[in-house]
Amino acid sequence: EEKRSLSFVEQLVEEDLAKGKNGGRIQTRFPPEPNGYLHIGHAKAICMDFGVAEHYNGICNLRFDDTNPSKENNEYVENILNDISWLGFKWGNIYYASDYFEKLWDFAVWMIKKGLAYIDEQSAEEIAAQKGTPTTAGTPSPYRDRPIEESLALFEQMNTPEAVEGSMVLRAKLDMANPNMHFRDPIMYRIIHIPHHRTGTKWNAYPMYDFAHGQSDYFEGVTHSICTLEFVPHRPLYDKFVDFLKEMDGSDTPLDDNRPRQIEFNRLNLTYTVMSKRKLHQLVDEHFVNGWDDPRMPTICGMRRRGYSPESVRGFIDAIGYTKFDALNDVALLEASVREDLNKRATRVSAVVNPVKLVITNYPEGQTEEMEAIDNPEDENSAKHTITFSKNLWIERDDFMEDAPKKFFRMAPGKEVRLKNAYIVMCTGCTKDAEGNIIEIQAEYDANSKSGMEGANRKVKGTLHWVSADHCLKAEVREYDRLFNVENPSADERDFLELLNPESLKINNEVYVEKYLAEKKPGDYLQFQRIGYFMLDPDTTSDHLIFNKTVGLKDTWAK
Ligand code: ATP
Ligand code: MG
Ligand code: MG
Repeated sequence: EEKRSLSFVEQLVEEDLAKGKNGGRIQTRFPPEPNGYLHIGHAKAICMDFGVAEHYNGICNLRFDDTNPSKENNEYVENILNDISWLGFKWGNIYYASDYFEKLWDFAVWMIKKGLAYIDEQSAEEIAAQKGTPTTAGTPSPYRDRPIEESLALFEQMNTPEAVEGSMVLRAKLDMANPNMHFRDPIMYRIIHIPHHRTGTKWNAYPMYDFAHGQSDYFEGVTHSICTLEFVPHRPLYDKFVDFLKEMDGSDTPLDDNRPRQIEFNRLNLTYTVMSKRKLHQLVDEHFVNGWDDPRMPTICGMRRRGYSPESVRGFIDAIGYTKFDALNDVALLEASVREDLNKRATRVSAVVNPVKLVITNYPEGQTEEMEAIDNPEDENSAKHTITFSKNLWIERDDFMEDAPKKFFRMAPGKEVRLKNAYIVMCTGCTKDAEGNIIEIQAEYDANSKSGMEGANRKVKGTLHWVSADHCLKAEVREYDRLFNVENPSADERDFLELLNPESLKINNEVYVEKYLAEKKPGDYLQFQRIGYFMLDPDTTSDHLIFNKTVGLKDTWAK
């Protein structure tokens, strides 16, 4: 592991270790709700949860927080597992909050019997209206002091198929005047009749997040329950429920160290995107993007498809670090991390994205040569592949100027340029159509100037990439821009859908790539030399190659 300074979370963990808490054992968990795909914000939590466990030779388990059947399903579970593996992390066990429904039920019954919980038959609106404000006490529910036996019977009823959704809830009987609003008789259970992805129709009453999360941590023996800052005000309640659990367990020291410790860090927010699952669902469901793995999405699967490496995502998260203050992170920093990592691993290839013909007039018609191309000059032991050279080539239209200024070091009549991995050529002219568009450029090659030959050593400023017109493949390139037009769509008063960038996807169907690319697969990191990083898209078929532009070589957004 690289040397780096400890995050404040790790410092707290080390304090606990120094005190001998939990016998030196470290156990964390990553607790996704299987109601959507993981995004880069989740990656930040994953790096923390798994990172702490790894660093202190502990264990990080997965726990699917599946206490609300309405939006959860197994498709999400499968994809979450896949994404975590792709990021490079290994979990210990896989748990589900739904594994604890029985235990949570028994705990709730124990609370009712202790006079610590009651059934409230008011509507959600009535309950909300009685909450009060942080500076004024709430109003106690008229059901607050109902007999224990009545609550017990109604709790049983809540869990029957006949129970009407919204007709009653189970509430903890805590403190309607507590300045912490979460203590004002929080809801523990509500009625939901949607079948659960694992328990089917067995349950009709489901625990709320606050009545499931800390308890699940406790049941599993989690030592450090690391989460994001919005849970800071939930922490006293988290601890309170664990106190009650320990009391039920018969622990005579309810405040001893055998309890999970909740620690909160700042969420990751990225410029020009949204991260809320509700909004991401809407983008997918209403077809503003082409699925969860659309390369414009901030999802892990979208980034993977776009061509980001797991190392670059992790490098970015390391770079932004963990603090106690919410911030908006610049997506340009993520892209810089992608470039830095792909520079080390991408195979350099030739692709012409805005093609114009170049004819080498003194090169024999029908002759070809296999030129050697180094896959990655950043790697001393790099492999090589070959690229076919011939009389008729494609080069970039922008690499030619008929009336070039002095500082233009690319192709212009009377000037020499080097063709990458091939010869030095002298431009002799161009041909135009009736409208004056350049349709062909001509040049003569120096047969003694091939790489490695004596004639190759003279000073020529420009080096251009090319592909042989008769030995290349036509491809589609999908180029992506920001999904949203504003830096922080979530802070804007307009609806986020109005802020979508209508030009976030540009399709270029006339790209010529070297033949070697026919062998490539999604997952192979490529650099189209002088253009950017690319990856084959899984939509590719045997006669239609499609590449996603991962990121350009330079930050074109920099001001
Ligand atoms: P949403 O609120 O949009 O539905 P969520 O945060 O509830 O998403 P979960 O599946 O519950 O999604 O998240 C699992 C874990 O990932 C939680 O511990 C949560 O704190 C963390 N997490 C989610 N989003 C971010 C983020 N943007 N930055 C850091 N951690 C995050
Ligand atoms: Mg959640
Ligand atoms: Mg949430």
